[in-house]
Amino acid sequence: MIPLSEPNIEESAWMNIQDCLSTGWVSSAGSYVDKFEQLVARYCNCRHAVATVNGTSALHIALLLSNVRQGEYVITSNVTFVATANAIKYTGADPIFIDIDRETWQMNLDLLEAFLKNNTVQKNGRLYHKNGRAISVIIPVHVLGNICDMDRLKSICDEFKVQLVEDAAESLGSKYNGVHAGTLGSIGCLSFNGNKIITTGGGGMILTNDEELAVRAKHLTTQAKSDPLTYFHDEIGYNYRMVNILAALGVSQMESLDKFIDTKRKINNYYTDKLSQINDITFQKIGSDVETNYWLYTILSKQQCELSAYLQMNEISCRPLWTPMNRLPMFKKDIYINDRDCSYSIHSKSLSLPSSSSISTTELDSVINRIHQFYSNR
Ligand SMILES: *Cc1c(COP(=O)(O)O)cnc(C)c1O
Repeated sequence: MIPLSEPNIEESAWMNIQDCLSTGWVSSAGSYVDKFEQLVARYCNCRHAVATVNGTSALHIALLLSNVRQGEYVITSNVTFVATANAIKYTGADPIFIDIDRETWQMNLDLLEAFLKNNTVQKNGRLYHKNGRAISVIIPVHVLGNICDMDRLKSICDEFKVQLVEDAAESLGSKYNGVHAGTLGSIGCLSFNGNKIITTGGGGMILTNDEELAVRAKHLTTQAKSDPLTYFHDEIGYNYRMVNILAALGVSQMESLDKFIDTKRKINNYYTDKLSQINDITFQKIGSDVETNYWLYTILSKQQCELSAYLQMNEISCRPLWTPMNRLPMFKKDIYINDRDCSYSIHSKSLSLPSSSSISTTELDSVINRIHQFYSNR
């Protein structure tokens, strides 16, 4: 089976992890956590980074740092991994889902702006839905490494007095007008899950340029311990810190990040070059201000179901984008803003293809040949 997106681990990982094991620094203290945070912060040109156990916990803490309270609303994209919506629910807030743009597959900013204009009021510098509930944060999700029109989104956030938290879980290394994904809002969240562009097995990170937020992020992710000697905790905290062994893996992965992005760009160009003759296949549009990290190559096909079955029968992994949030049972009652439900049409046509940074040209060719075979048999 050719995998979809596989980890690619360097030799140096063994040495770093061995170092943790032999010195006994395996847990939530140790130099690799600091080193990994510094490497990611420096790479993204961001002042502070706080490592967490996964991307979901990073999103949860980011919302707490933004003072999201029970009964409020947080706006996000209807096409995302479930973690974004779950993190909103963990705070006691409810999501408002916005449909995606049919070309970029990111949050549709026309729909967002129309919704805010027609359904909200501002009082004492805060935004409220007409039903009286506060709207505190907007979370754009940089789906597949692409990024929406952030200049426009930022001015919407300024106009409507709402905070901007980025779900940059898939977009480490992507840039908007030269600025790194995850550093475009007040807080950004990364993931180092096994399928992401770099991995620590499981892991995440909170990015911010605000020192106060960074200090608070560290506090909340370490059980809010204010005195390590007497075990005095000054509020309800979380056990969300990344452990040293995993950070050691992260440190070695950072050596390869630029190489991985370069390889992913080549994979993208190779596929597009060989598949663009097929009429039924179309591609995600990347914004002109965006340099994407090309994390996971994804096509649209009207025959997605049949093509997917055919590829899998031939030992090639592939899968559609996630089931849209409004179709999941636990979010059925939440607000979904759309006019044509593009979320569903993209979901039902999308197919991600094998895009591991370790994929060989032979493997790429066999995916491409199978796709051509599929269409020539129709
Ligand atoms: C992977 C991912 C997350 C969550 O990350 P985990 O590390 O798996 O908790 C959140 N949002 C999006 C869009 C993701 O792709």
